[in-house]
Amino acid sequence: MKAMMLTGIRQMEMREIPEPELVNSNDVKIKMSVLGICGSDIHYYTQGQIGTQKVQYPFTVGHEGAGEVVEVGKSVKRVKPGDMIAIEPAMPCWECDQCLAGRHHTCRKLRFLGCPGQAEGCLMEYIIMPETSCFPLKGILTPDNGSISEPMAIGVYAVKKSGGVKDLNIGIFGFGPIGMSVMLAARTKGVGNIYVTDRIDDRLVIARKEGALVAGNPDKENIVKKIYNEEKLGIDIAFECCGKQEAFDQAVELLKPGGKLVVVGIPEFDKWTMDVETTRRREISLQFIRRQVDCVEEALKLMADGEINIDNMVTHRFPFAMTKEAFDLVTEYRDGVMKAMIDF
Ligand SMILES: [Zn+2]
Ligand SMILES: [Zn+2]
Repeated sequence: MKAMMLTGIRQMEMREIPEPELVNSNDVKIKMSVLGICGSDIHYYTQGQIGTQKVQYPFTVGHEGAGEVVEVGKSVKRVKPGDMIAIEPAMPCWECDQCLAGRHHTCRKLRFLGCPGQAEGCLMEYIIMPETSCFPLKGILTPDNGSISEPMAIGVYAVKKSGGVKDLNIGIFGFGPIGMSVMLAARTKGVGNIYVTDRIDDRLVIARKEGALVAGNPDKENIVKKIYNEEKLGIDIAFECCGKQEAFDQAVELLKPGGKLVVVGIPEFDKWTMDVETTRRREISLQFIRRQVDCVEEALKLMADGEINIDNMVTHRFPFAMTKEAFDLVTEYRDGVMKAMIDF
């Protein structure tokens, strides 16, 4: 079968590798149908690492996938051949302290699709996943919904960890697919005013279409002032969704006393800094987000019920053979790209 493998910094090629086979009784063999390109895939593509997780070439990334079940192990009950499914990329051990505490996203022995040293990704024609990673696509759900359920679950989770957004005014700093997922999830929970910042004007257009009261570009205007013009007392919750120090600082500046900063973005630097005076006097709470736990089903349900619509998120499609072109487009933020999908 074919696999699209990273072979160096900004390099990838299609290689022929053996088709995977079922090993464990809970294994499911999946024929990939669609994959969404994630910011973390791009980090591995352009830098060969995220923090201490380093790519050993050749390596396959990709973890936002959906496909068709083609074969199942003896004990599998949740899915059967012919089912279309969303693939949850996390494969926890289910035995460590974290798993037993219901925190299987921080499992001590976590294997995650397309994470160096853990598991190859799903930029290949067939993959094997444990049954617990397979979520059937019911009703109106398409493979795109299945793929987007991964980032969307992070949005649902971030909103949950914020303590709830009902009638509260929020800021979303960075409006890529994760920032947009946070917004769409927040809208299903009765959020108040939504303020969005991003450096790409095309994304601000989408943000306004999706109902942001103010969407501003921090490179072109004083967005702190602009948001304070609308929200005189400051915002209740800030979601940092781009991993940038300036966004973190603007978020802190805009939070009202007792406000909460939820950090979802993945920075390219090693240490955040924060203003002691402001964070202390305003008694800001800080919540970091590590992916998500147990939110895939809710993300799928919100899409199945029509509460979340992803039409404005999926902006580009490429055939499998043109994966490199897709990665280059996303890397360079060209052509108003939000989420680019690969069709197998
Ligand atoms: Zn992702
Ligand atoms: Zn575990």
